[in-house]
Amino acid sequence: SQTCWSTPNCVARPKDSSQVSLLMKMICYLQTPFAVRSGGHSPNPGSSSIESGILIDLSQLDSMSISEDRKIFTVGPGARWGKVYEYLDAYDVTVIGGRIPHVGVGGLLLGGGISYWSGEFGLAADNAVDFEVVLADGTVVHANTQQNSDLFWALKGGGPNFGIVTKFELRTIPVKNIWYELNAYSIDQASELFDAFAAYQKQPDTKGTLALITSLTSITVGFIYSQPVERPEAFAAFYNITPVATLVPSTMGTVQILNMLSGGITNSPLPRHDYRGVSSKIDAGLYKDVYETWKEKATAVNAATGANMTFVLQHIPKNIVDIGNVNGGNAFGLESISQQWWTTLIDWEDPKDDEVVRGAAIATTEKWAELSAARDLKIPFIYMNDASRDQNPLATYPAANLEKLKAVAAEYDPHGVFQSLQNGGFLLFHVNK
Ligand SMILES: Cc1cc2nc3c(=O)[nH]c(=O)nc-3n(C[C@H](O)[C@H](O)[C@H](O)COP(=O)(O)OP(=O)(O)OC[C@H]3O[C@@H](n4cnc5c(N)ncnc54)[C@H](O)[C@@H]3O)c2cc1C
Repeated sequence: SQTCWSTPNCVARPKDSSQVSLLMKMICYLQTPFAVRSGGHSPNPGSSSIESGILIDLSQLDSMSISEDRKIFTVGPGARWGKVYEYLDAYDVTVIGGRIPHVGVGGLLLGGGISYWSGEFGLAADNAVDFEVVLADGTVVHANTQQNSDLFWALKGGGPNFGIVTKFELRTIPVKNIWYELNAYSIDQASELFDAFAAYQKQPDTKGTLALITSLTSITVGFIYSQPVERPEAFAAFYNITPVATLVPSTMGTVQILNMLSGGITNSPLPRHDYRGVSSKIDAGLYKDVYETWKEKATAVNAATGANMTFVLQHIPKNIVDIGNVNGGNAFGLESISQQWWTTLIDWEDPKDDEVVRGAAIATTEKWAELSAARDLKIPFIYMNDASRDQNPLATYPAANLEKLKAVAAEYDPHGVFQSLQNGGFLLFHVNK
């Protein structure tokens, strides 16, 4: 996104962890401001970009390999998820990662990571078994259940606060042959669709994923199932609602074909992007009321600036939370209930409209939070990977987790290099709680 473009004094493109180590030693010695970038998909200014300082661009750390038994996949942070699925296709397995192919491996994993298969297998970070990390003093360590287990826990959702991750080992999942369908509906069907979405959220089958994206002109619903089962019961609540167009017909496909389709569907021609997240409990009435506010704001901002704002519902079944806990827990500390992580995405053209456009997104999410609080449906959690520059996701984690994250940061980075010299990102240093 052009919202975060900058021209760093220096760009370093390390080829391995020893070069990252050397860079960290230089940064500490010279006290140079720096930023770290994997895929560069965060639109937040200064998060993975810097003007006066060194940008550590990890794009060349993009190696991939798989263990002989196909159970563990090793990947560098600079790889893109699309390449990951392409590589794994030949081995008949996949991993929990980003839904859009060009998103980077590093940032998504450190912020949690929602995949099409998360309902069944958990968040991406909860499927990591080892992180190779370069600490502030240049030491290269491993974090897993046996070694540096406190750092292992902190890296699962704790963001860019502890070191530079130079390699991830991820558990593979046995998913290859799948079913999907993509339909477009009229906006006049919004109410029925939100009822159906809430019904889907309350049914027990976690093999299905629904992507429901509302724009001012249409509502697109993607139905995805991790098994080759046509029109599974999980989505039954939708089958009586007639779409205005079928964009992708009912298909028995593969993860790799879905990966290619996802890339084609999601490209926006507008150069500036932002996203914002909030969470709540499941409630169709809430979705309908927030949709009305969203529609009013999206219409006004579109008329004034041409900005395109969408309204996305993301189902987080209880199973996601429970798998995280079984795998040793993560920094989020979520309550073990099914929940709704909502995000609004906004794309626009002109930098002079930044404030007006972002104002519309802010007003919409504030209304969501206000309505959910008034109805006792609020969940304070803000998902880091969907959080905008002025949001403070770490401050929404349970207080005990936040204290533990601070203790881990102090242990592995005693001079606070990642807090004071790192240019941006969601840093513990900015959390007052
Ligand atoms: C089109 C699009 C689709 C998306 N789809 C999904 C999705 O399906 N699921 C989901 O969960 N999220 C999704 N996201 C959100 C995405 O997870 C975040 O934007 C994430 O930060 C992207 O990772 P990246 O490596 O590309 O980001 P970057 O911009 O490179 O990094 C983001 C942050 O992580 C830090 N960082 C990156 N790599 C490292 C590292 N190796 N070590 C230490 N710190 C590091 C950076 O310094 C920065 O603070 C999507 C975003 C976009 C724009």
